[in-house]
Amino acid sequence: MAQQGVLGFSPNTVMNKSAAQRFHAIPQPDNKIRAEYIWIDGEYGIRSKTRTLDFLPKSVQDLPEWNYDGSSCYQSQGSNSDTYLIPVAMFKDPFRLGNNKLVLCDTYKHDRTPTETNQRHTCIKVMEAAKDQKPWFGIEQEYTLLDMDGRPFGWPKCGFPGPQGPYYCGVGADKVYARDIVEAHYNACLYAGVNISGINAEVMPSQWEFQVGPCEGITIGDELWMARFLLHRVAEEFGVVVTLDPKPMEGDWNGAGAHCNFSTEAMRKPNGIVEIQNAITKLSKHHDRHIQAYDPKKGADNARRLTGKHETSSIHDFSSGVANRGASIRIPRGCAEEGKGYLEDRRPSSNCDPYAVSEAIVRTCCLNE
Ligand code: ADP
Ligand code: MN
Ligand code: MN
Ligand code: MN
Ligand code: MN
Repeated sequence: MAQQGVLGFSPNTVMNKSAAQRFHAIPQPDNKIRAEYIWIDGEYGIRSKTRTLDFLPKSVQDLPEWNYDGSSCYQSQGSNSDTYLIPVAMFKDPFRLGNNKLVLCDTYKHDRTPTETNQRHTCIKVMEAAKDQKPWFGIEQEYTLLDMDGRPFGWPKCGFPGPQGPYYCGVGADKVYARDIVEAHYNACLYAGVNISGINAEVMPSQWEFQVGPCEGITIGDELWMARFLLHRVAEEFGVVVTLDPKPMEGDWNGAGAHCNFSTEAMRKPNGIVEIQNAITKLSKHHDRHIQAYDPKKGADNARRLTGKHETSSIHDFSSGVANRGASIRIPRGCAEEGKGYLEDRRPSSNCDPYAVSEAIVRTCCLNE
């Protein structure tokens, strides 16, 4: 995270919001659209910038390509810094409202080869190859809210909250912090058109979760990245920082993951449990490949989280079980009872790239690589 200076609080929180309101209320000309282009930078951070369009885009194909300075996004050398933005998904803009748009882009170098952090580029090919199997994904995105000094939001500055226990799905001022942000983000996702399926407070205070899905194929990556953008952007207005670090606090505090729930059409049909078991057998043979794909540092980030404690399995072992939250793969109790449904891969780190995670799962389970 960037150095935060001596203020200790976000300057955003002292902006005059009623003055801002006057200018937000200025009517936008009917023939102008603001399009916020959003992309992944060279360190899996999120960037965005705006352009005015003089037409109403009906689908993502209508949106023009654009470019940005890759050398300012940890991406390319200054001498050849132009990096292309190719629109891939379009959402409604919950900040500017009206016909304004959010535009998710993937990124290409000056020679039109994908940037190093453009994992969508290979993911979409794999999803295309497996599309007959109708792969669905639901990702549980855990995250932690921080003050500007990097300490979890609302924690005592010289000390700690009481031990974990009362906070998960908690209710009450001494149990959960910053619900305003969580609710604002939920509304923003629904308005934008992100398939958000729920929210809950997590085990560590100021840690929360939202779920996106089920989404078919490439859309899980697109929608999760858009939901992450919305979260950072909403929290910015409250002067609160969001971290996706998988282990923000050392010690007896839960880390943050991005459990990936997965099914194919065959798993969702009667007796699909057989297919679920087949997939688990395949996953058991490629544990290392999956650990490599499940965080941006090829396992180094997850090594801090997947300790075998705090509802995780050890990074070194593959395991599976019904209703077992200490396993790599869990079969939800309800699916075991119904004999069909989905499996939950509990290994992906909160800061994973969902394109890399969903690609690895499909390669192993659907394409038998
Ligand atoms: P947990 O009990 O592990 O906390 P959650 O309720 O947080 O589970 O998340 C479950 C996720 O699984 C949701 O995102 C949901 O959309 C997704 N899901 C449900 N059914 C399927 C399915 N058949 N295939 C893939 N994902 C699914
Ligand atoms: Mn400039
Ligand atoms: Mn969950
Ligand atoms: Mn959780
Ligand atoms: Mn889960």
